This record gives sequence, structure tokens and C-alpha cells, in this order.
Amino acid sequence: MEEEKGLVETKLKVRPVKKEREKKYRDYPTVVDNSTAAHDFWEPIVHLGLWAIKGHQIVKGPWGGGTVEQAKKRPPREFMVIDRASFAFYSHSYGLVSPFFQGLLEAKLTGTKCPKCGTVYCPPRAHCWNPECKVADCFDNWVNLPLTGIIHTFTVQCLAAAPFEHMLPFSMGWVQVDGADTTLPMLLHIRPKEIFIGKKVNIEFIPRKSRKGDLMDLYAVAAVPGEKPPEWACMQKDTREMESVENSMKATLKFIKDRYGVDNSPQTRGW
Ligand SMILES: [Zn+2]
Repeated sequence: MEEEKGLVETKLKVRPVKKEREKKYRDYPTVVDNSTAAHDFWEPIVHLGLWAIKGHQIVKGPWGGGTVEQAKKRPPREFMVIDRASFAFYSHSYGLVSPFFQGLLEAKLTGTKCPKCGTVYCPPRAHCWNPECKVADCFDNWVNLPLTGIIHTFTVQCLAAAPFEHMLPFSMGWVQVDGADTTLPMLLHIRPKEIFIGKKVNIEFIPRKSRKGDLMDLYAVAAVPGEKPPEWACMQKDTREMESVENSMKATLKFIKDRYGVDNSPQTRGW
């Protein structure tokens, strides 16, 4: 934090950082405030006007419809490309389902239960979605859930949004936590060749100091280590499909190593 503050004050020449809570929250009693430091750091940067255009290039390139090859046959045109940082700092409230996210900080999984139909929601819902329940209040009806479940569906990812790209390749599972009626998305620390729908998993949490109270705090591991997928497993029963997945993963591992210098191979990660 000290180093970050130094960066704000010296390189960006900003006004002095505030030591107070963000104005819009000042009227509320504070229960826990782990964000003031974040605001001290980010607010001056947000107000620096980083949206302003900082430079431009004029480039020549193909244009218009059709294939790239067709476009290349037309005389290239000049285009102006501008450089600017687009940046914002968001504060979100988890509202009435906040206890779920607070629970994650303590490595606990909770869900809400509809007092009318008994549906257990994990992730939680503040109000029931069953049309018969007419948005009944669920937010005062919390249940503790075990750290076990089954994979309802999954995806092996070799593409991801920018903040997660360096973690590729990885698999995501929608896990039905035991006792819940809905599914919770989470990372699977399981090799693709062992993932199948219906697989039993245990849910684990990253170390306490790294938790942020969000779904990246947890991940699933195989409940039965080394378990072979059943014959009907959709991905593994098609040899060509599995081969394609393995090849995509190899290419992705190389791309990530070249781009980020990170080795995400199973040998290094342990899964
Ligand atoms: Zn209901």
C-alpha cells in the first residue's frame, strides 16, 4: 500500500488523498470498513481525467465488407486510432444477500431457503423465483450448506476475459452444493479428462488472507481422487473431442507462457 501511495503522489501529481469514508456512505454506521484504503488510493486516480485522449496514430489498412482477402484488394484507407485509458472504480452493494459473501470470507457456504416452497438457493436469492411464491422473502431464512456437491455442468476454457487470461487454461463447473436446488459456478481444480456431469466434488477455499468475499475464493476438487469418468461421459466418450481439448490446452499453455511468463501446466499447478 505504501508503495502504491507513493506512485499516486509522485508520478501522477494528484491532490492529497482523503482520509475519510466516501461521502455517500458517511451517514451509515460502519460495521467493517476494509475499503477506505482502497478509496484513498483509487479515487484521486479516477478523478485525474484519464479518459482524456493522450495520443493518436494514423494507420493504413483494409476496409469494407466481404472476406479479409477481398478487402485487401481495395486500395487501403487511412484510419485514425486514438489512445486513452478508460477507467472507473465501482462500489457495489451485495444488498440483502450480503451474508453469503461475508460467509465466504470465513470459508462458509450458505444459502437462502424459501419459507413457502422450501427451495434452497445457492447462490442465494433475497426473494423466491417460484411464481407460486410471489417473490416471498427468503433473506431472513439462511441455511448452512456443506462443502460438498456434484458437477451439474462444466466448460473447459481456453479463452477468458482479460482479468482471468493469465490463469488459462482452466475449467469452470456449475456445482449443485448438497442441500441446494440451484448451482454455483466455481473453478474446478480437476483435469479435463477427469471431469464429467454428476461427478462428486469437495469445495475448498483459498487461504484466509487472500479471500475477497467473492466466488474466486473457492474452487472444487474431486471427492474421489483419480476417479475415471463413466463410459457415457460426454467429453471423454468422443476420442476426437478429447484430443481436440488436449491440443487446445497445449496451445493455450504455450501462449500463456509466452505472453505472461506463467507456467500453468498440470505438473506445476498440481491439477
Ligand atoms: Zn418459494
